[in-house]
Amino acid sequence: MCDICRRHFIRGAAALGTSGLFSSSLMAQTPNAGTSRLPSRGEFTIANTYVMTMDTALGDIANASVHVRNGEIVAIGADASTGGERIDGGGMIVMPGLVETHWHMWNTIFRSFAGDKAADGYFPTVARFGQQMMADDIFQSTRLSAAEAINSGMTFVHSWCHNVRSQAHAEADLRALAQVGIRARHSCGWPQGLPDTQSADQSPIEALAKNWNSWSNEGLITLGMGWRGQFRAGPIKPEVYQPEFDNARKLGLPITVHVAAAAHRAVNQIELLHKSNLMGKDIQLVHALAATPAEIDMIKESGASVSVSPGSELRIGYGYPQISEMLAKRIPVGISVDTSALTGSSNLFGVLKLARDSENARAESEFKMSARQALELGTIEGARSMGIDDKVGSLKPGKRADLIMINPNALNMAVVTDPAHLVLEATTPENVDTVVVDGRILKRGGKLTALDTSEVISGARTSLAGIRERTKWR
Ligand SMILES: [Zn+2]
Repeated sequence: MCDICRRHFIRGAAALGTSGLFSSSLMAQTPNAGTSRLPSRGEFTIANTYVMTMDTALGDIANASVHVRNGEIVAIGADASTGGERIDGGGMIVMPGLVETHWHMWNTIFRSFAGDKAADGYFPTVARFGQQMMADDIFQSTRLSAAEAINSGMTFVHSWCHNVRSQAHAEADLRALAQVGIRARHSCGWPQGLPDTQSADQSPIEALAKNWNSWSNEGLITLGMGWRGQFRAGPIKPEVYQPEFDNARKLGLPITVHVAAAAHRAVNQIELLHKSNLMGKDIQLVHALAATPAEIDMIKESGASVSVSPGSELRIGYGYPQISEMLAKRIPVGISVDTSALTGSSNLFGVLKLARDSENARAESEFKMSARQALELGTIEGARSMGIDDKVGSLKPGKRADLIMINPNALNMAVVTDPAHLVLEATTPENVDTVVVDGRILKRGGKLTALDTSEVISGARTSLAGIRERTKWR
């Protein structure tokens, strides 16, 4: 689209937005507001179905039942106990919900907004418009993302919130996650536009940590720190980054940081972290595309995890992720959306397919990564990388019921051959029939049960229109 067409189109969309229905989402100002609309947990049995447990001992089970009570998987198997409502799973594939590991949900409102010239690229676009976001804009964007996540089969997301302009902005992100009912980590970051010479204000994260029980949506949401690290466009001084890091450690929070994208190959950022004694089990490294073999050893030694986002990494030209190299060292790896401003659709099945394809492309082999390995990255391995594999990521008795039902009885999925290949290569959000988070059915028969989709969309549209007004972007 040419520049002028683009502006006309966006102005038209903004006009549509202002005439759309809009209900204020921040009317209720108490923590966990809106969760009363979530369905209750109860008891049900998905019967007569094909289950991909993603558990090495249980494997795939045909003609199986999955019995869920009060948010927990009670029994699973061909002869499993049953109870509660019977949900017919005939012809369906049941598997764990997908685990997403790094997503700037606050900027989904700028979906596909990164243009084709340097001035319209991702970073200037997001920095410019991000600085005009009010707390409610964050709410609208994160709610849109979380609704999309549920709709496309993700049951866990890592909301990487690096536009915390005030306490209210962080709270808006949390309120959106709670209202949708998704399992999540909120990593509280800094405001867009903050100079690299200035430490991020620690008061929002401190306030959240102090009062976390009231924000956690009954434990579904956990808190972390989104850290700028030691290097962005250039080096950041220790007096700027060290207090931020130390504060997260003092609060006992996991830390996540972007490192070693292709543009920064001149600096060995992981080695720098290692030498500065800033690595550990509580650190998630995002991208790490330019990691040297020595740095991969440092990641392994430290116990840190890695999140890669092939959808955005390929789109922005960072290069290929080094998933095989990380897995060879048994480093926990998760797959992520990163940002819808670059990727458009945030369907994680599509990103997992890109992860497999990019590994096969680099290896010039059809067989470098199996379909099942790619699905593991999106489920149990992703959960391990986020430290939640004891609760979710695979289906077995005692785990929380985060699961999805895929209906392959559709033109893009018929007919079922090899389930792992089919699920990885063909699943779209429309094929995701049912989504359960912690025993709550949040999507059923292809429809979201706890959200008004048109309200979610019109709220986001109105927000973007307001941001465009405030930035005087014509
Ligand atoms: Zn990112």
